[in-house]
Amino acid sequence: MAYTVLARKYRSQRFEEVVGQDPIAQTLKNAIKSDRVAHAYLFAGTRGVGKTTIARIFAKALNCQSSEGPTAEPCCKCDSCVAVNLGEDIDVIEIDGASNNGVEEVRKLRENAIYRPARSRLKIYIIDEVHMLSTSAFNALLKILEEPPNHVKFIFATTEPNKVLATIQSRCQRFDFVNINPSLIAKQLKFILKQEKIKYEEELILPLAKMANGSMRDGLSLLDRLISAGVEPLTAGLLEEFLGCPNSEKVYNLVERIGDNDAGETLSAIEELIVGGVGEVQVVDSLVDCMRDLMVLKSTSTDSELLVLTAEQRKRAGELAEKFDIAGLIYNITTLEKLRWTVKNSDTPRALLEACLLRLALSEHFLNVDGLISQLKGGQESPIKKNEAVKPDVNGGAARGQLDSEENGEHAFSRVKDIETKRNNNQKRRDIVNDPAVKMVLMEFDATITGIEEEK
Ligand SMILES: [Zn+2]
Repeated sequence: MAYTVLARKYRSQRFEEVVGQDPIAQTLKNAIKSDRVAHAYLFAGTRGVGKTTIARIFAKALNCQSSEGPTAEPCCKCDSCVAVNLGEDIDVIEIDGASNNGVEEVRKLRENAIYRPARSRLKIYIIDEVHMLSTSAFNALLKILEEPPNHVKFIFATTEPNKVLATIQSRCQRFDFVNINPSLIAKQLKFILKQEKIKYEEELILPLAKMANGSMRDGLSLLDRLISAGVEPLTAGLLEEFLGCPNSEKVYNLVERIGDNDAGETLSAIEELIVGGVGEVQVVDSLVDCMRDLMVLKSTSTDSELLVLTAEQRKRAGELAEKFDIAGLIYNITTLEKLRWTVKNSDTPRALLEACLLRLALSEHFLNVDGLISQLKGGQESPIKKNEAVKPDVNGGAARGQLDSEENGEHAFSRVKDIETKRNNNQKRRDIVNDPAVKMVLMEFDATITGIEEEK
């Protein structure tokens, strides 16, 4: 038997089954029950969040033959319901706006719309990607929207509502579909795996749900790809191997090295990810995700609902958060976000990734080097300890470069001293960050990392 992709096999059939869009499903049900169905609807939202699914359910509800009139509970068994499910109903016409975007197509639609439906109560036009219509097509559409025949309903779907003419929008009832919460996607993935009788490892589910980026369809097609690997049980390791989604522990490891200001180990942690088959862009994406989690943790608490993490991950992230301050995390996120674009368009993404992560790992050094300032100001001193900076620093980062050689030779620092130094460094850093000369150097570095974006 031919394999049906999961997104089709498990497409919701009733309003109750729709995942993550409850308010919309409820409003449409109420509209039917109270006989206040509008002539035209605009469904806006990113791909794979249920726009077409709800459009079909709504069409079934309006035309179901098992009931006297429109019903909030379509039977899903009558000829009409079955045909709508398959997208083949004679009275529910699905049009892809991307490929039928000319004025001629819309004129034809207008001519056909005049005729009464063949067997159902209503003639329903579902136009997907409606923003792709040409201006003249939009204008032609507007004519019929101004005075639609009583037997016609329109459901427009779009991923880019801002491109839909305001005159069209004002004649539609608009619904904004939200991105689906990863925990809801996770729940659905588990349900489907159970239905399909496929064994899986619990650690697989959350990262997979997160990879879907709020799109149920993307989540299910990722699952399709994993299943097609033919390996059971499905594991988090498989996710890394087949979809290039980095193992969360490896990402935490990398973030920990950055937090420790440990340059050498940061490079090793990058190596570990890349060798595992993870692409540079995905490394950046995972880092942004992780830094974001830490930022949320810092601003709220470990049990925040804004975090989609397993109990174990929450604990680990909580420990990692201690290594950063909020300002640093915000800086890291914005820098990584810019890096993402640069890496994507670079011929040497690996080097760029490493340079930027070193920049983050060594930010304290960058900000603490007195000599750098005196050099910039034309001073003779040049105590920029390059070797010092890139050597794994067992004594906790910034402190080391600041200490004189006598102490340096002792190899043993008391913890009190370390904290004291760190505090001094923080003060110094505050002063230095405001130094225009240092600002210039840092800006130049950041411009190098993000330069391509600015040329865009
Ligand atoms: Zn029916």
